[in-house]
Amino acid sequence: MADVLLKNISKSYDGKTNVVESVSFEFKDKEFVVLVGPSGCGKSTVLRMIAGLEEITGGDLLIDNKRVNDLLPKDRDIAMVFQNYALYPHMTVYQNMAFGLKLKKMSRKEIDQRVQKAAAILDIIPLLDRRPKAMSGGQRQRVAIGRAIVRNPKVFLFDEPLSNLDAKLRVQMRVELQKLHKKLQATIIYVTHDQTEAMTLGDRIIVLKDGIVMQIGSPMKLYNQPDNIFVAGFIGSPPVNFIPGMIKRTDTLNFIHESTGFNVNLSDIPNKAIAGFEDKKVILGIRPEDIYSKPQINSGPFAKLSTTCIAIEQMGSEMLVYAALDEKQIIARFSPESKIEMGKRVDLFVDTGRVHFFDPETESVIR
Ligand code: ADP
Repeated sequence: MADVLLKNISKSYDGKTNVVESVSFEFKDKEFVVLVGPSGCGKSTVLRMIAGLEEITGGDLLIDNKRVNDLLPKDRDIAMVFQNYALYPHMTVYQNMAFGLKLKKMSRKEIDQRVQKAAAILDIIPLLDRRPKAMSGGQRQRVAIGRAIVRNPKVFLFDEPLSNLDAKLRVQMRVELQKLHKKLQATIIYVTHDQTEAMTLGDRIIVLKDGIVMQIGSPMKLYNQPDNIFVAGFIGSPPVNFIPGMIKRTDTLNFIHESTGFNVNLSDIPNKAIAGFEDKKVILGIRPEDIYSKPQINSGPFAKLSTTCIAIEQMGSEMLVYAALDEKQIIARFSPESKIEMGKRVDLFVDTGRVHFFDPETESVIR
């Protein structure tokens, strides 16, 4: 398997604007890396450049220390699994999986061994004689993956492989993909717009926005230490709540949200950089699970935000409470037994040890 290195990779389709802007990243051998971001941010373009399906405008692409910018796709030892599976409808599963190997003039025996082995890994041996038409979306997806496995590539590329599946099957396939990665011990580069897939599958995640890398890190690093407003608002569901306010000094340094009087005493917060924002606007970020219906023992201190409940979603395992904040809302994750009523006052207790602050001008975290 392989190390893949992107050095300042850029892409322009029209020769004027870059849709991918100087992306640098090292995919380590056997690593499962997820490229995530909203539609149009350049994820597929990056993947297609790695595969060799799209010309690289600037920068270097190295696989195992060898520059491969100008290598043809077939010579890169990379297999790509597409969103629409791209199976041949007139061929059986076996033939679909064997096709690429036949083109390479591999012996029948070798082809058969590889197809049988991949089919066993994917649990699709009973399907080998079927045609794609007679299979479910999940089964077709497996065949598409099988076609990649038989090639024994250095790197697997997945382009939104689960987006055509229904919600339940997607969850199942997420688990399957984790198991598959373990079995194959392969380098996997996986593109999705779905932050849940990124969180659950990635050893590391690259968050892209408008062709620019916003942050790279492990799922928990991105979740707990977002570098900017974009990542805080993208990773996690529901995402981080944002509360605009000012840093003011009275006896102590405080964050103040004017219309509610919500006040966070910053003296206990180990964030030295915030002192530089005295008399300036900042944005406070807090995750829904760090807001409680009452102060908790063994954590805190807490800052109270009194507002009105505008909606409740009872999930069974938790209750999502939507509370008014100026023209917007903030969401808190309460225990399902909480006594909250729609339209009534609700007190939100914000764990001040868990707040983030962002600079509204640069949108970067203040830390
Ligand atoms: P994503 O995979 O994140 O949805 P893409 O990589 O498909 O994003 O697209 C990134 C940007 O490049 C978009 O603005 C898209 O319209 C543009 N783009 C993608 N493919 C082409 C192409 N073949 N020609 C011109 N523009 C393209």
